Amino acid sequence: MKNQTNITVIPGDGIGPEIVSSVTQIIDSLDLKLTWDYVTAGKTSLEDSGELIPQIVYHSINQNKIALKGPIETPIGKGFRSVNVSLRQQYDLYTNLRPIRSLKNDRYSNIDLIIFRENTEGLYIGLEKNIDKDTVHATKLVTRSGCKRIIKEAFDFAVKHNRKKVTLVHKANILKLADGMFLEIGRALSKEYPDIEFEDVIVDNMCMQLVLDPNQFDVIVAQNLYGDILSDLCAGLVGGLGTVPGANIGTDIAIFEAVHGTAPDIAGKNLANPTALLLSACMMLEHLEYFEASNDIRKALDKMFQEKLLTKDLGGNLSTSDFTSQMIGFIKNT
Ligand code: ATP
Repeated sequence: MKNQTNITVIPGDGIGPEIVSSVTQIIDSLDLKLTWDYVTAGKTSLEDSGELIPQIVYHSINQNKIALKGPIETPIGKGFRSVNVSLRQQYDLYTNLRPIRSLKNDRYSNIDLIIFRENTEGLYIGLEKNIDKDTVHATKLVTRSGCKRIIKEAFDFAVKHNRKKVTLVHKANILKLADGMFLEIGRALSKEYPDIEFEDVIVDNMCMQLVLDPNQFDVIVAQNLYGDILSDLCAGLVGGLGTVPGANIGTDIAIFEAVHGTAPDIAGKNLANPTALLLSACMMLEHLEYFEASNDIRKALDKMFQEKLLTKDLGGNLSTSDFTSQMIGFIKNT
């Protein structure tokens, strides 16, 4: 029997509280030994306490080592650093793992891609300065160790999960140093994995190739910004942002969150699709070795899609709360 596990829960902003409530109710229906430690960060917290990330958030994550997080809004143009980026850097969560799978028979069926996005470097370090009033410099930071560890994660994942190919995405024809080093390290590392096919593709061509034929790819590894853009593109291939999960993983702490943002256009309307966060929670359960529970959720979710029990973003008519009760019903009857 597992020991009691505490999980930090950050409901977040916009649709965050609705989808977090759905996902925790679904997991609670499995009667696992999990307890939720709720803390607030983001816009809601800024309004309540004047802080975007109060100390209690760090305290809770430091203790529990695992967090489930709703999307968080960072006020634009007021000098605030993105909460998402701050947490990733604070805990050195260098791997952003984003599996992209088709759940329903859409334009493209049977899509099964895994994106490894470098999560702590690149343009996301937020180092920008005005050279003069009409000129801005933004710094893209790339380190040898940063490149090596994310590319290695992608190859190790490919070996562990019996995948065939790793595609490294870059723009080394223009950024000869910053992306050139990423490519050079990828090529060198690929020699240590003779059973995994390796290729590199320039990011603009990658976008076109993904739209033309996504199934030609398998595991994709990219620096921070390219990885983020490719994730949204790939989300579009499988029906939209409502279904794409993510994990931010470091050496001893992991934060699980959907790829999508706060979706202010549908917030508070009981319309949000909890699937992406639910699949992120499945990744969390697998990380905690609750394989059976994760499998039960995935099976129930497959049934929802087979029976076209979908939220509005996917062409269905279920509300967030209908989705939650239907999922719990399927889980109880498996
Ligand atoms: P951010 O800049 O915070 O990453 P974004 O620009 O990617 O956000 P989102 O907030 O993710 O934007 O929303 C993009 C579109 O996708 C919106 O129309 C939104 O309603 C829709 N969307 C995102 N997540 C969901 C969801 N879980 N359920 C339904 N629709 C969603």
